[in-house]
This record gives sequence, C-alpha cells and structure tokens, in this order.
Amino acid sequence: MRRELARLGKPVERDQFASSEATLPIIINAAYDPSWNGIEIPAAFLQPPFFDAKADPAVNYCTMGAVIGHELTHGFESSGRLYDAVGNQRDWWTQADAQRFVAETAKLAKQADAFEILPGLRLNGALEVTENLADVGGVALGYAALQQHLREQPAANRTIDGFTPPQRCFLAWGPLWAAKMNEGAMRQTLPTDGHPAGLYRMAAPSQHEQGYYEAFGIRAGDRMWLDPSDRVTIW
Ligand SMILES: [Zn+2]
Repeated sequence: MRRELARLGKPVERDQFASSEATLPIIINAAYDPSWNGIEIPAAFLQPPFFDAKADPAVNYCTMGAVIGHELTHGFESSGRLYDAVGNQRDWWTQADAQRFVAETAKLAKQADAFEILPGLRLNGALEVTENLADVGGVALGYAALQQHLREQPAANRTIDGFTPPQRCFLAWGPLWAAKMNEGAMRQTLPTDGHPAGLYRMAAPSQHEQGYYEAFGIRAGDRMWLDPSDRVTIW
C-alpha cells in the first residue's frame, strides 16, 4: 500500500506490471490494459500448456499465440473499443460500424446464453461477452498466424500423429481450459465472473473460424456445426 501511495503525483510508470494480484512474473495469467493500450504476459505464463519452445509451432500458435491474440482483441471488444489509440476513453468508431459491431456481439451472447453448464444452469452471455469476443479474436489471430507460418515455411505443413497443422492448432486450444470446480463454485462464479466456464471456452471460439470447419470437415448437422448466420465476423 505504501508503495502504491508513493506513486501518487509522480509520472506514470509504463514498464510496471499493472496489478500485483493479476500480473507479476510469477503469476500464470495475462492481461490487457486499455489505459496504455498494452498487454502483459508474465514470464510464468510461458510454460506448458500455454507455451513450449520445443513444441510443434502449430500448437504454439493456438496456445500462446491465441492468448496474445486474446489480449490484443481486448482493445477492440465491447469495452476496449471505447478507448482510443493513446488510452483515453473516447468513442472513435463510426455509428455504422458501432451498429454492426453490436449486432455481431449479440450473436455471441446468444450462443453463450444457450449453453447449459449444469442441468438448468446456463451461461450469462451479456456478462461474458467481452471475454468471449477476446476468445474469438484470439483463436482467429492464432490460426491466421499459423496460416502465415505455413505459407512462409511450406515444409512445416506436414501431418504429425495423423493430424494436420490446422487440426493440431485447434486441438491445442482445448486443454488450456481444463479446470476442476465443484458445483457450488460453478453456481457461485457463473453470475459474477466475466470469464466463462472452461468447458465453454474450450470449444465455442473455434466455431466462429471458417478454418475450423475446413480442418475437421465439419458439416451442417454435426455437433460442432454453428450456422454461418450465427458466426461472428468483426475484425
Ligand atoms: Zn480476457
């Protein structure tokens, strides 16, 4: 507290971690801060399952790559978009773009609202929309980065254990959200936490990415199929 108080009236320190609870080098987490339009990836986050320097690049693009994409997207989701390039709160979007954005985010809220996490208990799409937008953007950016990598290094486009690079990418995203929580904790966090349950994050963001359908040959009627009119296309 003394350290925090001593910062008052002094110049802003931009190389300091924003929060001693959420991001320190020893904490496995990442964050976006709209006030300086920057992201924080603490050193502790750079270990499996989130990142492995020795892992297949297709895996790293949809794990740490998608996490970085997630944090970047926070600058362009429902609340982040209300801050400008220098971190001041200012609505810099045209009215037409803002209207289209809101219509797209409504699809994402609808998708989460329909997800039953426990019998009779559904997710809260409106509460979680910023995190779900960041996940959609994160998977899209991670997958786009993989596509660029494969264009630059065609030899990397090979099958490992029977899976293509796009398949390995989408599969690698899933285990990031493995978690253990009892029913009481789930019922308590659902109405208050802006982060959706891992069970949902594991699968839902990829359903907005066209490459996901191509990678696994998913067709209308399949369990993971999301109608194109329900998919979010924003950035
Ligand atoms: Zn987030």
